[in-house]
Amino acid sequence: IKRNPGEVEFHQALKEVLESLEPVFEKRPDLQEAGILERIVEPERQILFRVPWLDDQGKIQVNRGFRVEFNSAIGPYKGGLRFHPSVYLGIIKFLGFEQIFKNSLTGLPIGGGKGGSDFDPKGKSEGEIMRFCQSFMTELYRYLGADTDVPAGDIGVGGREVGYMFGQYKRITNKYEGVLTGKGLTFGGSLARTEATGYGLVYLMEEALKAVHKTFAGTTVVVSGSGNVAIYAVQKLNQLGAKVIAMSDSNGYIYDRDGIHLDTVRQLKEVDRKRIKDYVSHHPSAEYHEGCAGIWSIPCDVALPCATQNELDGQAAQLLIKNGCYAVGEGANMPSTPEAVDAFHENKVIFAPGKASNAGGVAVSALEMSQNSMRYSWTFEEVDAKLKGIMVNIYHTASKAAAEYGFEGNLVAGANIAGFLKVAEAMKAQGAV
Ligand code: NDP
Repeated sequence: IKRNPGEVEFHQALKEVLESLEPVFEKRPDLQEAGILERIVEPERQILFRVPWLDDQGKIQVNRGFRVEFNSAIGPYKGGLRFHPSVYLGIIKFLGFEQIFKNSLTGLPIGGGKGGSDFDPKGKSEGEIMRFCQSFMTELYRYLGADTDVPAGDIGVGGREVGYMFGQYKRITNKYEGVLTGKGLTFGGSLARTEATGYGLVYLMEEALKAVHKTFAGTTVVVSGSGNVAIYAVQKLNQLGAKVIAMSDSNGYIYDRDGIHLDTVRQLKEVDRKRIKDYVSHHPSAEYHEGCAGIWSIPCDVALPCATQNELDGQAAQLLIKNGCYAVGEGANMPSTPEAVDAFHENKVIFAPGKASNAGGVAVSALEMSQNSMRYSWTFEEVDAKLKGIMVNIYHTASKAAAEYGFEGNLVAGANIAGFLKVAEAMKAQGAV
């Protein structure tokens, strides 16, 4: 804490992981001797830079750019870019740290990193978004490369932004390489990448439910957010016969007891870039409520927080439990506060932490890298089948590690331990670097 003052989200993420690792270090003094703990909490490289860009009035605006290259023990740095006004070093470091373990859990050869900017894409014109992305990449390109560091999207960075950044990278470096994932399908993107995080979340939760002889068919589900992760989680849930009754954005939530019409949400969010409250003008029987936190007061069987960090606190968790919710899967990164996670564990709610349950996005990003290297592309069905296999495997790997280290049924500890061990072995083998 002294070394990283004010980085509260990073401290929160560190605390959770380090608590899970106590029994590992007891069992493995060799890892302690190799200084793994001291090294793994310190990013290999942190890049901070100025991003100047011209707005539509011809005025120069300045934002701050970040890239934290956290750990490359098992592969090139990999992790998304977030554009949101709340972005500062503490957020990027928390995300980058979590990314190390998540990427390791996928079983694919990718290290951990994260980046972004405090730029707010809301209300900006197409031209402003493009000029910002170009300026951002004009500095960042020198640290990237298909075998060095491969960013992707995150909050505020979708296919459009990835396209502009890829274009600028190619222009500056004169290289056509898989330096970003989440690209458009006409220039190296992978089929099923758009769907991957949401679908992957549902695949992992399906496996967790299977372990207690349940399925999604006939369940009632609340999904927060209405961005990339939320939309495709809802699509897969609908395919599996679940009914999603609520979604949200940062202003408020919609409640449609008949089941959310996903086509309307997609039109509003993906095409028109409007607010979730506009849903009720298409479906007047649905309700809109201001304030996104209220979404957790709606009774449901399963809750999938898919918006942002710390969106589900202890009080919300108690409310969900009281209303009969028996499973929670994190689509977002660290959406549940530590108090909420404790409440889920104490009440035997099945709880899947983001670093396990939202790993589908980065897994398919790694498959995009493979396809780019081969100059080849797999079909949607091929990628989707690989994604499902990876998510099922993550669930079992985390469950097994939890049981092995005395945390039976605790997927948070299991995911941390399993993700950590692979990286730690690689760091030990590579010496003090
Ligand atoms: P999007 O930008 O597509 O959507 C984010 C959604 O969350 C929007 O509905 C947004 O509402 C809402 N949101 C954002 N910030 C806040 C806030 N401070 N309070 C309340 N709601 C908020 O992002 P993604 O769907 O890609 O990402 C969602 C989460 O999933 C993030 O935590 C991300 O790190 C994580 N994730 C994403 C992956 C991916 O592949 N995309 C992979 C793994 C994790 P509004 O429109 O009002 O801003």
